[in-house]
Amino acid sequence: MSHKYVYEFSEGDGSMRNLLGGKGANLAEMTGLGMPVPQGFCITTEACTRYYTDGEQIGDDIRDQIVAYIGRLEEMTGKKFGDPDNPLLVSVRSGSRASMPGMMDTILNLGLNPTVVDAFAKKTGNPRFVYDSYRRFIQMYSDVVMEVGKAYFEELIDEMKEHRGVTDDLELTADDLKELSEQFKAEYKAKIGSEFPTDPIEQLFGAIKAVFRSWDNPRAVYYRRLNDIPSDWGTAVNVQSMVFGNLGDTSGTGVAFSRNPATGDKGLYGEFLMNAQGEDVVAGIRTPLTIDQLKQQNPAVYDEFQAIVDKLEDHYRDMQDMEFTIEEGKLFMLQTRNGKRTAAAAFKIACDLVDEGQISTEQAVKMIDPKQIDALLHPQFDAAELAAATPIGKGLPASPGAACGQVSFTAEDAAAKGKRGEDVVLVRLETTPEDIEGMHYAKGILTARGGMTSHAAVVARGMGTCCVSGLGDIGFPPGGTSFTLGGVTYNEGDWISLDGSTGNVYGVAIKTVPAEIGGYFGRIMEWADEFRTMKVRTNADSPTDAAQAREFGAEGIGLCRTEHMFFEADRIAAIREMIVSKTPEQREAALAKLLPMQRGDFEGIYEAMEGYPVTIRLLDPPLHEFLPHDEDDIVALAGEMNIAADELHSVIDSLHEFNPMMGHRGCRLDVTYPEIGAMQTRAIIEAAINVQKRHPEWHVVPEIMIPLVGEVKELAFVKKIVTDTADALIAEAGVDLKYLVGTMIEIPRAAITADEIASEAEFFSFGTNDLTQMTFGFSRDDAGKFLDAYYEKKIYESDPFARLDQTGVGKLVELAVDLGRQARPDIKLGICGEHGGDPSSIEFCQKVGLNYVSCSPFRVPIARLAAAQSALANR
Ligand code: PEP
Ligand code: MG
Repeated sequence: MSHKYVYEFSEGDGSMRNLLGGKGANLAEMTGLGMPVPQGFCITTEACTRYYTDGEQIGDDIRDQIVAYIGRLEEMTGKKFGDPDNPLLVSVRSGSRASMPGMMDTILNLGLNPTVVDAFAKKTGNPRFVYDSYRRFIQMYSDVVMEVGKAYFEELIDEMKEHRGVTDDLELTADDLKELSEQFKAEYKAKIGSEFPTDPIEQLFGAIKAVFRSWDNPRAVYYRRLNDIPSDWGTAVNVQSMVFGNLGDTSGTGVAFSRNPATGDKGLYGEFLMNAQGEDVVAGIRTPLTIDQLKQQNPAVYDEFQAIVDKLEDHYRDMQDMEFTIEEGKLFMLQTRNGKRTAAAAFKIACDLVDEGQISTEQAVKMIDPKQIDALLHPQFDAAELAAATPIGKGLPASPGAACGQVSFTAEDAAAKGKRGEDVVLVRLETTPEDIEGMHYAKGILTARGGMTSHAAVVARGMGTCCVSGLGDIGFPPGGTSFTLGGVTYNEGDWISLDGSTGNVYGVAIKTVPAEIGGYFGRIMEWADEFRTMKVRTNADSPTDAAQAREFGAEGIGLCRTEHMFFEADRIAAIREMIVSKTPEQREAALAKLLPMQRGDFEGIYEAMEGYPVTIRLLDPPLHEFLPHDEDDIVALAGEMNIAADELHSVIDSLHEFNPMMGHRGCRLDVTYPEIGAMQTRAIIEAAINVQKRHPEWHVVPEIMIPLVGEVKELAFVKKIVTDTADALIAEAGVDLKYLVGTMIEIPRAAITADEIASEAEFFSFGTNDLTQMTFGFSRDDAGKFLDAYYEKKIYESDPFARLDQTGVGKLVELAVDLGRQARPDIKLGICGEHGGDPSSIEFCQKVGLNYVSCSPFRVPIARLAAAQSALANR
C-alpha cells in the first residue's frame, strides 16, 4: 500500500498531533469522544512537507487519496460535490503541530458554483443565506488562493450598501448579494484573466495548495522564528463538511474559552453572533454578544455546550479555546485547542488545575511557556492604550518590558534627567560601556545598530531595562538633537514608547503598568526547582544586580564582568591612567588605586550571594574602549596625569585596532600586562578572605575565570599569575581559603583542544556569544544588518546569537564537554553566553550534561523553569 497521507477524523486521535496537526488531532479526538463534529478528513503534515520537496506540487498519489476521501465524505454525509440537489460544501483549514493562531489561511463554503447556488437557494428556501455564502466563498478564494487581495471586494460591499441606503451587511437582500457575487467574479476575472473556477475538485486542490503555501507566508515565518517552530514541521489541512451559522435566526456561531484567558478565572468566557459565520465574530464588523446571553437566548444549546466544555476540560486537563456553530438550533463543535493565555492567567490556571486535582505539579510545570515569564517581571503597556497606538518602526526585541519616556540622545543627559525623576528613553546609534550610567537611569534604550548580544542588549537585559536594538531605519541628522523614523522627526524631549518584547517603537507616550508577581508564580517556581537538575546562576556585575538575581532564585554567579565596574565616574580616571602608563611601575601605581575599589565591589557581590559560588572573570574588553574620545575629556585626562594632550593623543592612536573584537583583549591583556591579572586576583582573594571572616557559616570559594583562551600555554601563563598571587595572599593571611581557576570556552580552538585546556582549567564556562561570533565568523554587533536577509531566504531560521546553533556551535560545545571530562572527570561545566537564558538552548545544555546555566538576573526564573522542563523531558 502506498504511504497514507489522508485520515478521516474517525481514523485518528489526539495523540497524532505531529501528523494531523493540532486542529486535526483534536477534531479526531472529539469525534472519538462522541461530540457533534461535522465530519471530514485531515491531509497530513507529511503531505505538506512532500508538497515542498516535490517543488510545490501535490503528488499524484496524494491527490488520489484526497479524491478517494472526498468520495467517502460524500457517502458519509449523503451529499455530493457539485450536486444541485444536495451539494457537499466543505471548509478547508490549516492546522500545524503547534498552534499558530491567525497565521495561516482558511476557506469556507467550498463547492459552490452557479448551478449549485441556484438549486440550493430554491431548495433551502433561503436564497439570502445561499448568495451570502457564495459571495463569501468567492471573496475568500480570490484572496487566499489567487492572492487577489480583499480590499476591493470590501469596497464593492460598501458601495452596494451605500447604493441601497443601508449600514449593516445583514440588511442587504438576496438579490443584492447575488449581484455582489457577480461583481466579485468579474473582479476575479479582471485580475486573474480566467473565469472563477466552477469545478469543486479544482476549487479544492486550489485551496489545499493555498494552505500549504500559507505555511510559508511572511507572517507565519516570523511567528515560527519567534516561537522556535521549525519550518520542516509543515501544516496539515482539514477538509470538513460545512455547517452554517448564517441560516437564519436560529443559527449562529461563536468562540469561547473554558476559563478567562486574561485572568485565568474559571468559567465560560466568549462571544457569539446569531445568523453569522465565524469570520464575522473575529472581524469585528458586528458587535458580538457575550456567551452569557446565549444562556438567555437558547438555554438548551447553552447547557449542551457547557456540558461539552466541561467534558473537554476534564479530558485535556487544560483550558480550552473552542469554536462552535449552531445550525438551525443544533450545536456543532468546529475546533478545540489549549487556549492561549496571558502570563498571569497561565500561572493561575496551572495552580488551579493542580488544586482541582486535574493535573500533577509536574504537568503544571510542563504547561507553562518559560518565555511568558518575562511579561510578569517587567512593566507592560496599558492594553487599551497599546491597542490604540500604531508602531513607527520595529527593531530587535533585545530586552523585554515596556518603556515610555522623553527622548534623550546622550548618556549624560539621560542620567541627569533620570536622577531628577524624569522618564527618559535613551536613543543612540549604538551604546558603549561609557554610556552605562545613562542606561541605568533610562526607562528604555533604543539603538539603530547592534544585535541580540550587542552591548546595549546585554547590559539592558542585565539591568532589566527595556531595550530595542538594531532599528536600522533610524536616521540621525547632524546636530545630535533629533532622530528620524518613518519620515517623522523626533526631537530631544519628545515622548516615545518602546516595547522590548516585540521590538515595536511608538511615536507617542503609552501608559505603562508595573509588573505583578503573584503567589501562583512562586508556587510554580518551587515545583520547578524540585524537578530541576541543572543549577541556575546569574551574570551580574554589581551587588545590586546580584541581590536582584538572588531574589529571582539564582544559585550563584556564573559571570561577573569586571570591566563594567570600571566605568563608574570615580574609577574611569584610574583605569585610563593604568592604560596609558608607560612603565610597569606607573601601571602598578594606577592599579593600586583600583585595587580597593575592586575589592569593595567583590565584597559586595560575595555578600549579596550569601555563600553561593561566584565566578569572577578577569578583564576582557579591548583597552581602547576605556579611553576618552571627546577632545575635552582628552585634555582633562592629560591635565590630571600631568602629560601633554598630544602625548595622550599618540597613546590613544597607538591603541587603535582595526578589529578590536579579535584584538588585544581577554587573557592577551594579562599576557602583555601581568600586573592587571595580579591586581584583580588580589582584589578577588582579599575580598573573599574578608567576607569569609565576617560569615564563618558561609563557604566562600571564588572561581577565577580567564577569558578568551585559545591555547593551553597562554592559560597556564595567566593561571600562574593568578595562583602565585592567590597562594601568597592566603599563606600571608594564614587562612584556609579554597579557590578555583578556570576558563571560558569561547574560541573554537579552545573547544577543539579542550582536553589540553582542561589539564589547567578546573572549570569551563561556555562563552557562546563569542563562540557563536567566531564559529560563524560574523560580528555579534553587526550581524543584525544582514541576518534578516538570511531569514527571508530561509538560510537561517533564527538568530544564532539568541538561540544556540546546535548543529555547528553546539557541536563544539559537545566536543569540549567530552574532551574536558576525559581529561578532568570532575570538571565543572556551565554556560554564561546569552544563550544561558534561552529555553531551547537550555534544553541543549541539559542534553550535553552541563552543571549549570548562567543568565541575566531577569532571566533567572525563565531559566529555572526551562531547566525543570528540560530535566523532565530528559527523564
Ligand atoms: C561570551 O562571549 O559568551 C561571554 C559571556 O562574554 P562576553 O559577552 O562578555 O564577551
Ligand atoms: Mg566573550
